[in-house]
Amino acid sequence: MRKVNNKSDRLFEESKKYMPGGVNSPVRAFYAVHRNPVFIDSAKGSKIYDVDGNEYLDYVCSWGPGILGHARVEVIEAVQKACEKGLTFGAPTENEYILAELVQGLMPSMEMLRLVNSGTEAVMSAIRAARGYTGRDKIIKFRGCYHGHSDGLLVKAGSGALTQSVPDSLGVPKDYTKNTLVAEYNDLQSVERLFEECDGEIAAIIAEPVAANMGVVLPKEGFLKGLRQIADKYGSLLIFDEVITGFRLAPGGAQEYFGVTPDITALGKIIGGGMPMAAYGGKREIMEMVAPLGGVYQAGTLSGNPVAAAAGIATLRILKEQPDIYAKIGEQTKKLADTAKKCMGDKVRVNQIESLMSIFFCEGEVVDYESAAASDTEQYAKYFNYMFEQGIYLAPSQFEAMFISFAHSDEDIERTCKAMERF
Ligand SMILES: *Cc1c(COP(=O)(O)O)cnc(C)c1O
Repeated sequence: MRKVNNKSDRLFEESKKYMPGGVNSPVRAFYAVHRNPVFIDSAKGSKIYDVDGNEYLDYVCSWGPGILGHARVEVIEAVQKACEKGLTFGAPTENEYILAELVQGLMPSMEMLRLVNSGTEAVMSAIRAARGYTGRDKIIKFRGCYHGHSDGLLVKAGSGALTQSVPDSLGVPKDYTKNTLVAEYNDLQSVERLFEECDGEIAAIIAEPVAANMGVVLPKEGFLKGLRQIADKYGSLLIFDEVITGFRLAPGGAQEYFGVTPDITALGKIIGGGMPMAAYGGKREIMEMVAPLGGVYQAGTLSGNPVAAAAGIATLRILKEQPDIYAKIGEQTKKLADTAKKCMGDKVRVNQIESLMSIFFCEGEVVDYESAAASDTEQYAKYFNYMFEQGIYLAPSQFEAMFISFAHSDEDIERTCKAMERF
């Protein structure tokens, strides 16, 4: 039996006095699933534990970083060792170089890179570099793709607003988003059309190579290659936001998995192994535009932090040395996907690729923002709550991915499949 969440509820009430919604990132507040969040005390492997002593099988994995499971011993030890030497110096360290070399080896398209602190920062800086390099202002993003919360990217735009993008958030001046054009995911024509209208003005196309922030939406055959071709045809750059897909679809991310090479890549989540770490990088001649070599300014007090770098290095080394990890978690995830299809039938659409998955409560195929938005979010909330009561912690929103880690055992997967069947 689950214990009552007395302490979590009390902490939530207290937190609400000091932080908007009681949280430091909105989805954690559980609004979409109509219940209070639980406060987490600790985690190990595939499990997280709340402050009231409940155990949950975790399919959020901190929204992606936890590909090896929680508190993996090599990662914790690396962090402890780094901590003892001091937390930050504001001067170069060997760890930064080791991490950069590791990343470059896994993703050869990142000939040079810069370490930053969050995915938001990585994408924002990648776009600045693209604009600096091309001397153009406009960018194309896809409706339903999330690239962090920087002003110019908080745009998804409704239909009919394709070329005059309106901000999604209060506090973002219209002028900040006027250079953000919005195309439809999996629709190359919508991209071509923007290029025809704004030829010579578009610095870059930015895409999540697998969209994972409107639920998981896979690129159709030829979509990513098509983006590469269109970018080349118009002298624009292609930016892959691999904050989720990097080191998750394959050691070399989506660019290795699909064989499409971007000009610039943004990384986050897994690269820090659970610590705040992110990176952007790409072709040498683009990255040589970044200060102090070039005129594109970008800096950070804690960038490349040696403790965060230590966690990243330990994580990437394990992924690099044991590539069969990918086959294993892909297989586990496929079992979950197959079970969901089998027991929920035509009430759901299941999108899965490697260790990313979404169960959409809708009938039609989910290939873009519009088809994802057609999901029955109340049905998702029921599903979430049922699983939660069984001690299975899923993303508290229909529009977030389910993350599977290497720490999820056969028994964990079996238990999850059984709970899905009962639901
Ligand atoms: C999470 C995410 C970001 C933002 O990263 P933060 O570290 O939360 O700032 C950007 N792009 C994608 C694809 C993401 O999933």
